Amino acid sequence: MKNECDIVKDLLFSYNDNVLSTASKELVEQHLKNCENCKNILNEIKQDHNEQKQIKEIDFLKKIKKKLFNKNVIIVIGIILLVLIIVFNILVFSNYKKIASTMEIYLKDNISEQELEDIKNKIIENSNNTEIEYVSKEQAIEIMKEKFNTKPNLLNNVNVENNPLPAFIKIKTNTKIELIVSIIKDMKGIAYISTHTNVNPYAVFIHPTL
Ligand SMILES: [Zn+2]
Repeated sequence: MKNECDIVKDLLFSYNDNVLSTASKELVEQHLKNCENCKNILNEIKQDHNEQKQIKEIDFLKKIKKKLFNKNVIIVIGIILLVLIIVFNILVFSNYKKIASTMEIYLKDNISEQELEDIKNKIIENSNNTEIEYVSKEQAIEIMKEKFNTKPNLLNNVNVENNPLPAFIKIKTNTKIELIVSIIKDMKGIAYISTHTNVNPYAVFIHPTL
C-alpha cells in the first residue's frame, strides 16, 4: 500500500483538476476507497483549491467595484464641473449687456446744478435699467491718484486749487449707448463724451471696470 500511496499522491492534483486518463482515474478512486490518508490529502487539496478560487473571485469583485467607483467619481465630477460652468456663464451673461456698454460724460467746470440735473433726467427718461454715478472734480483727483499710485510725482501739481480734471457722470445702461449720446450730446454743460463697448463678456466679468 505504501508504494501505491506515493503514486496516488502524485496523481491527486491532476485527479482534482479532472485531467486524468480513465485508467489512472479508476486507480485513484479504487485506492481512495481503502486509504483514509490519501482521502484526507485529497480533501485538503480540494479545500485549498476552493479557497484560492474564492480569493480570486473576491479580487475580481474588488476590481469591478473599484472600476465602477472610479466611473461614478468621474461622472459626479463631470456633473459638478458642468453645473459650475453653467452657473458661471449665467453670471457672466446676465450682467453683460449692462456692463458691456459704459459712457462717461465729462462736464464743463462752469456747469450749473440745473444743467447737471437736466442731463441726468434726460438720460433716465430715455434709457432703462441705467446706473448714473456723479464723480466730482475732487473725486476725479482721488481716482487719478489711485491709478498712478506707482508714480505719485506725476500728480505733484494737482490739488483742489489747481485741478485740471473735469467732473463727470459715469453711466452703465441696457439702452444702446449711441442713442443716449445722440440725445444728450448738444446739452449745455457737457465738455465731451467718451463711450466704451466691451465685446468680450468674460473680460467684462473679470474686469468690470474696463
Ligand atoms: Zn494511500
